[in-house]
Amino acid sequence: MTFGEGKIWMDGEFVDWADAKVHVMSHVIHYGSGIFEGLRCYSTPNGPAVFRLQEHIARLYDSARIYRMEIPFSPEELEEAILATVRINGLTSCYIRPLVFRGLGGMGVNPLNCPVQCMIAAWSWGKYLGDEAMENGVSVRIASWRRAAPNTFPSLAKACGNYLNSQLVKMEALQDGYDEGIALDHAGRVSEGSGENIFVVRSGVIYTPPSSSSILPGITRHCVFTLARDLDIRIHQQEIPREALYIADEIFFSGTAAEITPVTRVDQIPIGTGSRGPVTEKIQSEFFRIVEGRTEDRHGWFTAV
Ligand code: PMP
Repeated sequence: MTFGEGKIWMDGEFVDWADAKVHVMSHVIHYGSGIFEGLRCYSTPNGPAVFRLQEHIARLYDSARIYRMEIPFSPEELEEAILATVRINGLTSCYIRPLVFRGLGGMGVNPLNCPVQCMIAAWSWGKYLGDEAMENGVSVRIASWRRAAPNTFPSLAKACGNYLNSQLVKMEALQDGYDEGIALDHAGRVSEGSGENIFVVRSGVIYTPPSSSSILPGITRHCVFTLARDLDIRIHQQEIPREALYIADEIFFSGTAAEITPVTRVDQIPIGTGSRGPVTEKIQSEFFRIVEGRTEDRHGWFTAV
């Protein structure tokens, strides 16, 4: 099933892709009032399995709480609906997008009279930053746009509106010939990519910005902490100044779509040797050994479809 085909789960039932529609006067269209998740299902030797399902659903409910949205389904019902969406579309390895949004209930900024609706779609999606990027890394620029300050848009919510800022970062990077952009926070410290968390390696230690640096608390980021501990690599959350990127030995991104992707150039400066470094490779290969089912799921990260 590719993008644009198959069935979409909408408010408790499956509809054909072409019929999964909302009214143009829905609140979400005018005011960005939606929250969402992105998950991956991997094809493993034991069959298709969704990666970190409970954690993604927990973050969806966190986002809903921040925006005072009452999701009309239980977490268990949404988990089951996600598995059912993969099943009904006959997918083995795919990307899954659940979205909760304010529907049709009147105009005006106040969202509270609009019904809260849910949808789940799934489709095949390859390497987000390209197959080649996994080995050779990506070239990024520091965005001229900053992440929203903490007292403006809450970064711990994965909200639709936040992605207007991400789009500015991404479009600017692509237009200037880069693969991705890195945004600084309101104080000029390193925050994250347009859709990825960032890690910096120096003298064998991994550093990543804390949640107070306007980041989304990534679930793949959490995997990196766990894998670093498994591999005996020290890892710290720490505010990171921009110039620390230029003098890093290695940099990599994490994300559900991006998985673990090396960053080999920042603002045209080669990072370390200019190719994927040994710490990145260790984390990356352990990550892929787990998600491809080539080693035991020792942390219980998979839910069988
Ligand atoms: N930051 C942003 C802005 C993102 O959109 C994403 C992707 N969801 C991430 C970080 C990485 O989060 P995760 O590992 O949970 O996909």
